[in-house]
Amino acid sequence: MERYSRQILFSPIGEEGQKKIRSKHVLIVGIGALGSANAELLTRAGVGKLTIVDRDYVDWTNLQRQTLYCEQDAESGLPKAIAAKQRLEAINHDVEIRAFVMDADDEPFVSIFEQGVDVVIDGTDNFETRFLINDLAQKYNVPWIYGACVGSYGLSFAMIPGKTPCFRCLVHHLPSYHMTCDNIGIIAPTVQMVASYQTAEALKILVEDERAIRDSLVVFDLWKNEHRFLKVNKLKNKQCPSCGEHRSYPSLQEPKAKMAVLCGRETVQIRHPHSFDLKEMAQQIKASGQKVQYNDYLMITELEGHRTVLFADGRMLIHGTKDLMDARSLYQKYFA
Ligand SMILES: [Zn+2]
Repeated sequence: MERYSRQILFSPIGEEGQKKIRSKHVLIVGIGALGSANAELLTRAGVGKLTIVDRDYVDWTNLQRQTLYCEQDAESGLPKAIAAKQRLEAINHDVEIRAFVMDADDEPFVSIFEQGVDVVIDGTDNFETRFLINDLAQKYNVPWIYGACVGSYGLSFAMIPGKTPCFRCLVHHLPSYHMTCDNIGIIAPTVQMVASYQTAEALKILVEDERAIRDSLVVFDLWKNEHRFLKVNKLKNKQCPSCGEHRSYPSLQEPKAKMAVLCGRETVQIRHPHSFDLKEMAQQIKASGQKVQYNDYLMITELEGHRTVLFADGRMLIHGTKDLMDARSLYQKYFA
């Protein structure tokens, strides 16, 4: 317990709070910039179990702000979930880390909620996944902590089922600036600030200090030196299909898309109907004279000028296009 002594000395946590933190399970969805920062802080804080879910792999553009990753991870194209697990275990081997390389709408994602989780942290970059988390959080009665950032601008809010408005109640009231998927860049301090707000609320939830939980939406701009706390509790909507009196959980009803353009990126994701045998695929592609790089989790190659990444679970990312038809014809030519 010595390693947690400074946290135990902090009276709102204390010995009792530390025991609670050690006994709890946190799920982090998306382990990019926000996910990295939250995961590191919670691992150092000594949370009992941490589950991380991410569909992407480490590349060089991540290193500026995704603090769990190093050059070696980008070089070997490791999935973020795997690289993060390795780093987090090196930071604190007492924490049980479970890593899933998958999309949040895959079957096993729901089972994480079924098995029981104490708090969920939003490390995603898109609304689709947030709506899904929101419905699962409401259905399984789990608090979740929304966070988003772009440029020097960030926001965060802790959603407590039965108390606060949910994401669906709030979404039309969020600044429109935030709705865009356009890539306008980001500075790393914005990430750290949002993650600090998220982890602080997570710690309050883990030690069950309900009165300390911030009931406002925090919005800031580090470059313009603006910082505001917006009271949003009146926005809780009784008719809300996610948290209202008659719930249909719309995101849990939607069929999975086979093809999708990834938010803010020139990338199309395609789902192959079954998993890939990466070793065999790599040999075939090598035999056709293409360059190929692969590890246990994914294979990277270049097809007709598009960097193409195949994950063992059957997902495929085609970079350098936002055109679904283009992506489809490439897929059919090589894999269908
Ligand atoms: Zn709602």
